[in-house]
Amino acid sequence: MTNPLTVLDTLGRPMRDLRVSVTDRCNFRCGYCMPKEVFGPDHAFLPRAEVLTFDEIERAVRAAVALGVRKVRLTGGEPLVRRDLDGLVRRLSAIEGIDDLTLTTNASLLAAKAQALADAGLHRVTVSLDALDDETFMRMNDVGFPVQRVLDGIGAAEAAGLGPIKINAVIRRGMNEHAIGDLADRFRGTGTTVRYIEYMDVGHSNGWRLDDVVPAAEIVETIAARWPLDPVDPDYRGEVAQRYRYRDGAGEIGVISSVSQPFCGDCTRARLSADGRLFTCLFATRGHDLRMLMRDGGTDADLVELLRTIWAGRDDRYSELRSLDTVDLPKVEMSFIGG
Ligand code: SAM
Repeated sequence: MTNPLTVLDTLGRPMRDLRVSVTDRCNFRCGYCMPKEVFGPDHAFLPRAEVLTFDEIERAVRAAVALGVRKVRLTGGEPLVRRDLDGLVRRLSAIEGIDDLTLTTNASLLAAKAQALADAGLHRVTVSLDALDDETFMRMNDVGFPVQRVLDGIGAAEAAGLGPIKINAVIRRGMNEHAIGDLADRFRGTGTTVRYIEYMDVGHSNGWRLDDVVPAAEIVETIAARWPLDPVDPDYRGEVAQRYRYRDGAGEIGVISSVSQPFCGDCTRARLSADGRLFTCLFATRGHDLRMLMRDGGTDADLVELLRTIWAGRDDRYSELRSLDTVDLPKVEMSFIGG
């Protein structure tokens, strides 16, 4: 059924997905996202009073759902470091109209929390995992976190019914290319889909170079050389990953080619930052403040109206422009708006 309130942006794109960053904090220091040099002991994280409360997050999500959002993903920072997250999940799972309620996590705390999250109504989890050997994994998370605890988290999520699980793996040239094959071998035939992500420029780690990106086409070739693959048609408009199926029936992989093949034309995603700003693009430098309206006594109807106006004026297609190389684009604040 088409939602009578559905709003389209200036390029005809509906708002379908909302990513909610529930905290700007993380217990990992992955060099491609929250490098230690920037997010060290002196880094000023948001004071608690500036972070949206569960009440405020619920209000914002309800407003977005009224305008057509059907998929809500909780992210961060690391969402599981936010206390009582299952309480938020319980509130959101009661909202009518959400077809898909998911969580993206590094899974470091998932083993202990998976069951409570499932009981609260979470549908699925996506786990970020960049390597299966401790040496590489610890070098990438930069806090010495062992990979086995992430695998335990994945096991617990499966046991709690939070599948089908997706694995997100960022591939960096010279760092974890061997993980392409390792992850394919480990997860084929298990029902868990690995999605390989091209390494994007996040600005803070001034080291980003195009040479560090392993293009999606190369990732697909690497896997196909071992296990033949066939492309799969997208399930729906705006699907982020291009999917491939193992020819022998052992499941699927996905690649997310935001650098080599940007996909703005179909982008139906909005992002809510931990401090209540709505970003209509991962590369947008400016968010629209929803928190002020909520804290200044705005009604739910005012909130819906504000969201509608923001979305109706949306014209972002930054990553396409980036690939044309015509403009100097802002860098992504991945840790802030949740990837
Ligand atoms: N802490 C959670 C996690 O690890 O999944 C959620 C937040 S994290 C910012 C969300 C996703 O963004 C992760 O899958 C992460 O790998 C991805 N990401 C972060 N920095 C990236 C970069 N520079 N390029 C590509 N993906 C990146």
